[in-house]
Amino acid sequence: MTSHLSQTKPTTEQASSGRVSWQQELKEAIRSAAELCQFLHIDPAAICAEEVDFPVLVPRAFARRIERGNPTDPLLKQVLATASERDDVDGFVTDPIGEEQAQLAPGILRKYSSRALMITTGGCAVHCRYCFRRHFPYSESPSGLEQWQPSLDAIRADEQIEEVLLSGGDPLVLPDQRLAQLLIALADIPHLKHVRIHTRTPVVIPSRITDSLVDLLKSSRLKVWFVIHANHANELDGEVFASLSRLQNVGIPVLNQAVLLKGVNDDEDTLFELCKRLMDVQILPYYLHQLDSVAGASHFHVPVEEGRALIAQIRKRLPGYAVPRYVQEIAGEQSKTVLA
Ligand SMILES: *Cc1c(COP(=O)(O)O)cnc(C)c1O
Ligand code: SF4
Repeated sequence: MTSHLSQTKPTTEQASSGRVSWQQELKEAIRSAAELCQFLHIDPAAICAEEVDFPVLVPRAFARRIERGNPTDPLLKQVLATASERDDVDGFVTDPIGEEQAQLAPGILRKYSSRALMITTGGCAVHCRYCFRRHFPYSESPSGLEQWQPSLDAIRADEQIEEVLLSGGDPLVLPDQRLAQLLIALADIPHLKHVRIHTRTPVVIPSRITDSLVDLLKSSRLKVWFVIHANHANELDGEVFASLSRLQNVGIPVLNQAVLLKGVNDDEDTLFELCKRLMDVQILPYYLHQLDSVAGASHFHVPVEEGRALIAQIRKRLPGYAVPRYVQEIAGEQSKTVLA
């Protein structure tokens, strides 16, 4: 990290690294299966399928961590559209976790007491093939205060809510000025104490953690928590850790959530390496999610019994705090359901 070497104070248009801005990195991301195969020297005829409904989106910082010429790379599998996405499998549906019932107002979900989840934007910095959001007709355009007002009103009206989760999509595809407006509006709600940012962006575009973002989060009255999303140790390089440590340095706890994915992280050593790598930089492995049964992702499914066995194995090799809770989202429950 070279931010302290740069002469001028970085703005949102200029990454803290002094190289291209995160917005530019997003703009230059790989946006088709064919382009991704070409970048990685993989024969497109062998594996690439043109995506049907959810376009390929992979920032180059992430693509560079994929092994060239390896069609079974665990990072590649997460982002490359394949023909298996067209499999129609019983039980794999477009809205697997029944989110509609949990809406407090448009854009805000209240499933659990004391916390509410706010959909800040429909956009993401990467398109993960297993994601249940792939079927949501989100627009890519960034949201703003006007669209957030119903959510803000609903939070203000419910004094039991102490924590707001900023989710999406991914809140960190919003520019810092937008996030600042949102944080100010949230901090103005007296009963709110915590704001939790659920984001995969720092993993795929580490330069997203700009100086202005760090300043913004540091200066809020609200306690800020970060939950990143990485599924494999190879996603986490020195650049990612350097970015996240800037948050840790101002007292923001960073946690990770992962999804158990066949062919990506469904073996003992891979899961162990992920947790170990996280704990070595004081990132807490928070959750390991059972995959939601979303149409187009059935090829990633791992049976719950296998997941439980994996957790039992890594528990023998890690301190208790570095073993993630293996959880499943079951509609209508008052918390996530702990499987192991
Ligand atoms: C997962 C989730 C939360 C957060 O749950 P925690 O167990 O506190 O991490 C909150 N709201 C919704 C709607 C969720 O899906
Ligand atoms: S970044 Fe998160 S919300 Fe966006 S596609 Fe990936 S898993 Fe889904």
